[in-house]
Amino acid sequence: MSQARLIEVETAILSKNDALAASNRRVLNALGCLALNLVSSPGSGKTTLLCRTIEALGEAPLAVIEGDQQTSTDAERIRATGARAIQINTGKGCHLDAQMVGQAIDDLRPRPNSFLFIENVGNLVCPAAFDLGEDAKVAVLSVTEGEDKPLKYPDMFTAARLAILNKTDLAPHCDVDLDLCEANLRRVNPRIEVIRLSARTGEGMAAWTGWLRTRLAEKAQ
Ligand code: MG
Ligand code: ZN
Repeated sequence: MSQARLIEVETAILSKNDALAASNRRVLNALGCLALNLVSSPGSGKTTLLCRTIEALGEAPLAVIEGDQQTSTDAERIRATGARAIQINTGKGCHLDAQMVGQAIDDLRPRPNSFLFIENVGNLVCPAAFDLGEDAKVAVLSVTEGEDKPLKYPDMFTAARLAILNKTDLAPHCDVDLDLCEANLRRVNPRIEVIRLSARTGEGMAAWTGWLRTRLAEKAQ
């Protein structure tokens, strides 16, 4: 395939995706449902963060869409908390798209004024390009990945409204400079918000759940 033809095909795929994402957004906005697209590399701790978040949010109505190439392990972990979850397996695919998420929204029927967490396939590249109809992308970056990742994968951190610097309990063991990591995040996205968090110790959880409740309240207005 020629380069020009490849670009044509990619543009067509993305514009079809954008139309479906706009339709998802209309459905979610009508419900006052706050949808967050959690993006990261594999192993950053998204599912553990979600399990802790569900516990911390208590009675708040919420649902979860889990994306992975294979297995329903993560949806099972979410359901074990009592929350509703749907697993999407992308097979050879390396990201969720708006059509998959639209189908999952139809099946889940999110409640009015609820949270919808979408855990994307672990991949710092193309999930940045696929709008799912979410209110915001939340990038989860664990301290073990190194301070340079925002500079190496700028599209993802530019697309994110919030970055969670996760696993801060491990920082003393991996010679990571958290201030440099934050500075690199702001270099690629001056407006990005950053929360340092450890799902394991609970550090930062109050800031994160406070952020979530504020965004939901804004949406309900
Ligand atoms: Mg996961
Ligand atoms: Zn992909």
